[in-house]
Amino acid sequence: TPVLTFRDVTARYSPGVRRALNGVSADIPRHGHTAVVGPSGAGKTTLFSLILRFLEPEHGAVVLDGVPLQQYSLDELRRRVVYVEQDTPLLPGTLRENLCYTHRDADDEALWNVLREVRLEEKVRSLEHGLDTPLDGTVVSGGERQRIALARALVSRPEVLLLDEATAQLDGLTESAIHDAVVKVAARGAVITIAHRLSTVVDADQILVMEDGVCRATGTHDELLAVD
Ligand code: ADP
Ligand code: ADP
Repeated sequence: TPVLTFRDVTARYSPGVRRALNGVSADIPRHGHTAVVGPSGAGKTTLFSLILRFLEPEHGAVVLDGVPLQQYSLDELRRRVVYVEQDTPLLPGTLRENLCYTHRDADDEALWNVLREVRLEEKVRSLEHGLDTPLDGTVVSGGERQRIALARALVSRPEVLLLDEATAQLDGLTESAIHDAVVKVAARGAVITIAHRLSTVVDADQILVMEDGVCRATGTHDELLAVD
């Protein structure tokens, strides 16, 4: 069974305004990488807002593990579904505190494993205080911050990882580190990305093509090309 299902979901941000989504149905497999693509205003971010319950459907339902989302407490939902937005702010405090924000009892080995996954291991080893280096914005670049945000998400091993990298200005190392981490995480759970870069979409297991609040097509990159 899919980990997430959108059942004929309609959504709007306030009464009277135009619908942001207009009858979206889609299944997100329990394992693998689903990429959401489409022009600005298509409804990509709204899909994430519904999964995170920042917004409730006007009609239809979003179902996690066979259970409608409203039946989960927000605490449980936040454990199962983790969101890495563009430019996720880091917390004041040390790298360790940032990494352990949602998963307080993670041990050092687990932390080093995720740092390796996002290719920050060498950087952290070179920092004077390692995991206990205070992060004040001067020790880490923008790309490194993005990788720390991803590492923090990976520490908690969510069932569903939501990644918005559509417009982030990423350096090459960060881009490939994120790409590799997505592939790895997709082997053990569901990863949904909002992606503009073709490179992340080509090897996605499923692509949802959004347009004007509806899901126009679903398939792999090759399947979608064959239809065109
Ligand atoms: P995404 O594809 O990730 O949803 P968008 O292309 O919609 O990204 O938006 C990229 C950035 O531009 C976002 O920071 C968004 O807030 C901003 N943006 C989107 N639409 C508008 C708009 N009509 N006017 C001004 N800023 C916008
Ligand atoms: P995308 O992420 O694909 O760029 P969005 O999901 O952000 O698209 O937007 C879908 C529609 O919902 C657009 O018409 C957009 O203007 C509208 N919308 C998005 N966010 C808000 C908001 N916070 N308030 C009102 N309308 C919004």
